[in-house]
Amino acid sequence: MAGEPVVILGGGLIGLAVAHQLARRGRTVTVLSRRRSEAAGFVAAGMLAPHAEGLVGDQLTLGQRSLDRIPRWVAQIEADSGLSCGLRTSGIIVPFHEATARDQYPTAAYGQALNRQQLERELPGLGEAWTAGLLFEQDGQIDNRRQLMRALESACADRGVRFLEGVDVLALEQSGGGLQGARVRDAEGHVYTLACAEAVLCAGAWSARLLPELPIAPVKGQMLSLQAPRGALKRVIFGPGTYLVPREDGLVVVGATSEPEAGFSEGLTPQGQRTLQAGIASLLPQATQWPPMERWWGFRPCTPDEGPVLGASSIEGLWLACGHHRNGVLMAGLTAELLAGVITGQPLDADTKALLRAFRWDRQQNDSRPTQHVGLDAWASDQPSVRQP
Ligand SMILES: Cc1cc2nc3c(=O)[nH]c(=O)nc-3n(C[C@H](O)[C@H](O)[C@H](O)COP(=O)(O)OP(=O)(O)OC[C@H]3O[C@@H](n4cnc5c(N)ncnc54)[C@H](O)[C@@H]3O)c2cc1C
Repeated sequence: MAGEPVVILGGGLIGLAVAHQLARRGRTVTVLSRRRSEAAGFVAAGMLAPHAEGLVGDQLTLGQRSLDRIPRWVAQIEADSGLSCGLRTSGIIVPFHEATARDQYPTAAYGQALNRQQLERELPGLGEAWTAGLLFEQDGQIDNRRQLMRALESACADRGVRFLEGVDVLALEQSGGGLQGARVRDAEGHVYTLACAEAVLCAGAWSARLLPELPIAPVKGQMLSLQAPRGALKRVIFGPGTYLVPREDGLVVVGATSEPEAGFSEGLTPQGQRTLQAGIASLLPQATQWPPMERWWGFRPCTPDEGPVLGASSIEGLWLACGHHRNGVLMAGLTAELLAGVITGQPLDADTKALLRAFRWDRQQNDSRPTQHVGLDAWASDQPSVRQP
């Protein structure tokens, strides 16, 4: 199969990352991409935050392993593309109303506990209600929207990846349990079958439309950005429901609503934008004076336990790399490495095999364990709501 092309179904963040790693390992790769601009890879805030997100269990392991590999992954993309990805080790601060909530945070042991005085030193102007905090120096951010996605596209092109833009994959075709091809509609409206024996499903929030057995649904998120004076905010502030992510040039990315009930409904809503404004006012009152720059939205690909779906599917030849929900930027590098490894038949160590087992697509069919993301939910419900301005 080594000479046969691997077809990537979906040219968003994960699709590009997998295509790039496969091409680096000498495979011929074709990316089918319906609409570049709808990818959550262009929407995300770019936080690299396994600790600030309060991940637990296998997701924490995956997130930490991915965080460790990000500098090497970014160096590969930058070397192949000649473009910067905008990686910053700014650290992330999670503020709390009470020290007890801080000390109970699931990842508290990985952070530095801060009192109000220390918080003020790190985040001058932080809202008065925030009296305690956790500083995660090891968490960071990458400028996915302006830099990483473009650099990945260019790195793929440099490595010979072929892009078919404007191609909508309508259905997967199989025979005898094995993948035969993808039924597609191209940019000119022609419908035909693209034969392929090996493909990777990277269609983000839309993945279950192609493989309905996948438990993946969209969770809409609205965002906005502000132009702050350069250096006005040095660390990411990760509050409940709202976070502020300062880029190198002073742009502050603010996110994000979490709207599972919105389905795939497009566009901004007044309520969503008010929620973000209220979050800004609570976290950093002075930021309400910074001029707004852009507003946008997108869809997180969410699974019931909020962890990704990685590795083999029920169809021979079809691989899965989807369902990364709110941590796809963090997990893209390791996801790409894992998938490229299994597809090219690389020997897998015990840790890698364990991760692939933990994130099988059908893991929850006989699993009654509660969601892995208990940390963030419990913390947010403990804090006064910023969702109701
Ligand atoms: C508001 C928001 C904030 C976020 N913030 C962060 C963050 O700070 N840190 C973090 O780690 N993660 C964050 N994420 C999550 C991250 O963006 C996603 O997990 C990640 O982008 C998922 O990548 P993907 O490639 O699976 O999906 P996408 O990037 O959405 O790409 C999927 C692609 O598949 C294409 N496609 C779909 N169906 C078809 C089809 N039938 N035929 C052809 N093409 C198709 C789409 O056009 C799209 O381009 C955030 C997400 C959102 C929405």
